[in-house]
Amino acid sequence: MSVNFINLPAYQVTKVAENEHDYHIDAEAKDHPTICQICDSADIVGFGRNEQLVRDLPMHGKRVGIYVDTRRYRCRTCNKTFYEKLPAVDVKRVMTSRLVKWMGQQAIKRPFAHIADEIGVTENTVKNVFNDYINELERAIRFETPLWMGIDEIHIIKKPRCVISNIENNTIVNILRDRTKKTVMDYLSRLKGRDEVKCVAMDMWEPYKDAIRTVMPQATIVIDKFHVVRMANQCLEAVRKEIRGSLTDKQRRGLMHDRFILLKPEANLQGLDLITLESWTKNYPALGAAYRAKEDFFAIYDAMSVSEGLGRFREWETSLAPEIKDAFYPLTRAVNN
Ligand SMILES: [Zn+2]
Repeated sequence: MSVNFINLPAYQVTKVAENEHDYHIDAEAKDHPTICQICDSADIVGFGRNEQLVRDLPMHGKRVGIYVDTRRYRCRTCNKTFYEKLPAVDVKRVMTSRLVKWMGQQAIKRPFAHIADEIGVTENTVKNVFNDYINELERAIRFETPLWMGIDEIHIIKKPRCVISNIENNTIVNILRDRTKKTVMDYLSRLKGRDEVKCVAMDMWEPYKDAIRTVMPQATIVIDKFHVVRMANQCLEAVRKEIRGSLTDKQRRGLMHDRFILLKPEANLQGLDLITLESWTKNYPALGAAYRAKEDFFAIYDAMSVSEGLGRFREWETSLAPEIKDAFYPLTRAVNN
C-alpha cells in the first residue's frame, strides 16, 4: 500500500479499509528506536505491540483513523519498558500534529460541534485544542509586536472576539477572549515593545480607541478601510432612501435594482448598468452626486501617502454638493477625527 495515501512519509501503511463515513488505516512507523528512551542504553529488546488509534485530517469527506501498530520495548540495562515515540503525532491528543494545527485554525471560523463531527472527536476536545492554539499564538506575540497593528473582530460561536493583527505581514498575532475595553487594555499593557507601535488601524469601536489612547498614546489611530468603505456606502444609502421616499410608484419602478447598481464600484459596472446609472444621474442629480462622492472617496482612500490623501480629502469635502452634505456627514466626521 502506498505511503502517499496518507502523506505521512514516516509511516508504512499496511491496509486501508473504508465505509460510508470512515477510513480505517492500519500503519506502523518506518523507523525503530535503537536506544532506551529512559537511560539511552542500546541494549533493548522487543516486548510486544499495541494498537493505537491516531486521528488524522479528514480525507475525501470521511473521517480518518490511523491504527498504528506501536512497538513496545524492554531495556536490559535499566529493566524498564517503553513504547516507541510516534513521529508526527501529538502525544497529548493522540492525533497527528497536522490535525491539531488544522483544528486550531478551523475553530476560528467554524462551530466546534461541526469540527468535532467531521473528525470524530468530542466537542470538548475541539475546545481544548482551540484553547491551546490561542495560548500558542499568545506566546508567539512576545517576539513580534507589530509596528502597524490592526484591531478587528471575528465572531466565534456568536461571540465577538478581538483580533490583533500585523498589517505589514498580514498575519494574525492574537485572538482575545472578547472585545471589552478591559480585555484589550490588559492585553496591550502586557505587550512588550508596545511603545514602538506606530499606527493602529481599526473600526470605530470606542473601547478599542480608549484602550489605545491610554496604553499606547504614541500610536496614530487610523480607521480601517473596510469600515470606511462601509460608511461611505451607508451615506450613499441614506441619499438613495431619501430620494426614493419622495418618488411616485411609477418613478420608483424606473429605479429597478438601484441599490445593487449604486453600491457596486464603478469599475465593476458594465454595459446596461452604466447606461442605467447615467439616466438616473440625469433625472436625480443628488443620486448622481452621491454616487460620485462615494467613488471619489474610495479613490482618495487608495491614495499612496497619508499627506496626499489628506489634501485630496479636503478637496473632496469642499466639493460635496450641498444636498448630500448631510448624508455624508458621518463619513466626514469619522475621517476628521
Ligand atoms: Zn534503559
